[in-house]
Amino acid sequence: MKTDRPATHASQWPDIRNNEYYVGGKPLTRHAAVVGRTPFYAYDRGLIRQRIDTLRQQLPKGIKLHYAIKANPMPALVDFVTPLVDGLDVASKGEMRIALDAGMEESEISFAGPGKNQEEIVSAVAAGIVVTAESFLQVEQIAKAARSLNLKARLALRLNPSFELKASGMKMTGGAKPFGIDSECFADLIEYVRAQGLEPEGLHLFTGSQNLNPQALCEALQGVTDLCCQLVPAHNLDLRFINMGGGFGIPYFPGEPVLDLAPVMATLGEIQSTVHKLTPQTAIALEFGRYIVGEAGIYVSRVIDKKCSRGTTYLVTDGGLHHHLANSGNFGQVIRKNYPVQLGNRVEGNKTEVVTVVGPLCTPLDILAERVELPEAQIGDLVVVRQSGAYGLSASPTAFLSHPLAAEILV
Ligand SMILES: *Cc1c(COP(=O)(O)O)cnc(C)c1O
Repeated sequence: MKTDRPATHASQWPDIRNNEYYVGGKPLTRHAAVVGRTPFYAYDRGLIRQRIDTLRQQLPKGIKLHYAIKANPMPALVDFVTPLVDGLDVASKGEMRIALDAGMEESEISFAGPGKNQEEIVSAVAAGIVVTAESFLQVEQIAKAARSLNLKARLALRLNPSFELKASGMKMTGGAKPFGIDSECFADLIEYVRAQGLEPEGLHLFTGSQNLNPQALCEALQGVTDLCCQLVPAHNLDLRFINMGGGFGIPYFPGEPVLDLAPVMATLGEIQSTVHKLTPQTAIALEFGRYIVGEAGIYVSRVIDKKCSRGTTYLVTDGGLHHHLANSGNFGQVIRKNYPVQLGNRVEGNKTEVVTVVGPLCTPLDILAERVELPEAQIGDLVVVRQSGAYGLSASPTAFLSHPLAAEILV
């Protein structure tokens, strides 16, 4: 049997009492009893609020803080986040509905996405939200919607600059990309926009996701700023906002650091004053998804079987990749690594064992954790996957194998 100790994770769940996870100030076993079944996701309001407070304290004054709903679209969660942020970024008509229902001011909702059909664009223009054009055709469709509704469209232009966000989990700019319009085409683009009787009120540049390298984030933000500061005077742009993206990452895997905010905030301070000097009416916005909600959520399943196969001990749970694809390693990772996993009702134990935790699906891909050291588990114990507040249930193939949907609670 392999007995070398598995690697450890950077962060701990912040509220553990009597050897048990507490979420929203209450023990996990009680939440499980309230839900009445496993698996479920639990999101902690206090931790979400703490994260937003931290960003608010450290962001230079005047920089707007947006939440990207794609990370976690649970309506109750979006309702909770809405009064705490300055804007919501949506990427579908469904997300637009959630943002409107949450009561965010229409002018502070923006709709991005490389594919929008005419019907979605008409809805967005009718709703009065900012529609982010990502192609020449989208510009034309927005103009057409505005004419047919006899409304002024709120237009933003999404650009694909020539540089990328280095060291990022997912790069969204640089080279050929389906997102936005290549920045070198800007002269043609703005001419086209104006010929349609439109004027952009914002620019949107989103360089990438899941970045833990402050230097790389600073370089990308600086690159975005340089580009915008060139375009604004060259094309006489009168912008209400520049959305510079975000990309702030959280530590998922053993050995990953916590993002050091200080250098990024220092760069943002300089950027803020550069932009202010050039175009004082233009606000800088940043959009955060996983950084706000990722560490505030856990995925909870129950051990329903335990068995040994040729030296490997398996814990079989009732939860798996149909609810949490990213944790299984099948949502963009190149090499599968473990998210932080613990027993929620038995955090420490006198006797530990190295186990592989799997789900109930008939596929070898359904892994919750590979070779982790846990207290000796019993049938009925709760397995907790941390860092699960973003890209969890809504990013999973819930129909695969026709198991019941996971519940979600906000506590
Ligand atoms: C996905 C996405 C985000 C959120 O990314 P995170 O890594 O969760 O912060 C923000 N903006 C756009 C345009 C996106 O596509």
